[in-house]
Amino acid sequence: MTYAMEGRASREPALFSPKPRAKPRGQSKGPGRADARRSTSGLKRNVFFRIYLLAMFLSTRFLTTMDIRNVVVLGSGCAGHTAALYSARANLKPLVIEGHEPGGQLSMTTLVENFPGFPEGIQGPELIENMRKQAARFGAEYRMGHVVKADLSKHPFELSFGKEIIQTRTLIVASGASARWLGLPNEHALIGHGVSSCATCDGFFFSGKEIAVIGGGDSAMEEAIFLTRFATKVTLIHRREQFRASKIMLDRARANPKIEFLTDTVVDDVLDVSKKEVTALRLRNLKSGESWDFPASAMFLGIGHIPNAKIFEGQLETDADGYLITQKNVFTRVPGVFACGDVQDRRYRQAITAAGSGCMAALEVEKFLEEEGH
Ligand SMILES: Cc1cc2nc3c(=O)[nH]c(=O)nc-3n(C[C@H](O)[C@H](O)[C@H](O)COP(=O)(O)OP(=O)(O)OC[C@H]3O[C@@H](n4cnc5c(N)ncnc54)[C@H](O)[C@@H]3O)c2cc1C
Repeated sequence: MTYAMEGRASREPALFSPKPRAKPRGQSKGPGRADARRSTSGLKRNVFFRIYLLAMFLSTRFLTTMDIRNVVVLGSGCAGHTAALYSARANLKPLVIEGHEPGGQLSMTTLVENFPGFPEGIQGPELIENMRKQAARFGAEYRMGHVVKADLSKHPFELSFGKEIIQTRTLIVASGASARWLGLPNEHALIGHGVSSCATCDGFFFSGKEIAVIGGGDSAMEEAIFLTRFATKVTLIHRREQFRASKIMLDRARANPKIEFLTDTVVDDVLDVSKKEVTALRLRNLKSGESWDFPASAMFLGIGHIPNAKIFEGQLETDADGYLITQKNVFTRVPGVFACGDVQDRRYRQAITAAGSGCMAALEVEKFLEEEGH
């Protein structure tokens, strides 16, 4: 027997059956009144003590069980809301942590014309608010804030949320990928009014216009080539003379008669906030120092995205750029952890694909919990 066990063994009997007081010598053999009273009150104390211990035991059991969530959804973009909707309708009472950007990327944009079901299109913030309301109607619980740490080595998983630790049997990671912006003074005010990070989403709005694409990698080439379907001219602006893009993509862009290149040039600002639309880009040539306003109806950023998956570093598999790697659409390498939307999709990055994979993740959570007997 170990020391610890010995200690426990010697303490427990004292707790559960307090020793009856030793009877003083020389007293009468039969139990007197005082003795009877003493033994009744001892018995009462013992019973109360046992009830107290039982209550303590049950309450901790009960609280612990109540505290463990069936499913936590990380993120409140299209993927997160859809996962919340499906898991709420499956009666799993999901908890959605909204993150630093409630509503996700769609809340930043204006008109969305390619989400099915809205023949006239719908404003991004309205679409995302509708999704939230729909999930909340079925019991999804929403909490503002950001998860700063996740421990997936334990089961239930532990998420650090402010000073609180949230425990959950399953986790849906729908934390998206934030577009890289240039950080220009007027850039954010013009997102959705000519500034965009998504050619597939917003290219159509600039049919017959002259536009600019910023960047020197494959994403910038791809965006520029795609945008020539709509624009009369696309100017690709890059801060260096050399491009990071692969030769094949660069050659393709160079061969396109609608694409022009401006190298060694940076954007200092985008105009014109007072008109609520992009009218020009303030450019500066890095070699000559010359600065000028370059007329354009839109500025598309082709400088990549940052997947919001840093808290899972070393726990979930990622590619070289930090996107989560999934198998069979939404499975991560940790059983019970599913990923959906842009955080695991660098190829499509659309509201509808994010929503679709959010649905898949929730259906897999249902199956997982069922197999686990919950
Ligand atoms: C300007 C712009 C216009 C667009 N227009 C269109 C369009 O017209 N049509 C279209 O189909 N697509 C469009 N898109 C793309 C579309 O918005 C995205 O594909 C979609 O939003 C991805 O959804 P998501 O849920 O995966 O991620 P996101 O929308 O990026 O949401 C991620 C969520 O995760 C949260 N989060 C991140 N980290 C944490 C954390 N640690 N803890 C808790 N929460 C966290 C964030 O707060 C956010 O709520 C556009 C994108 C942009 C930027």
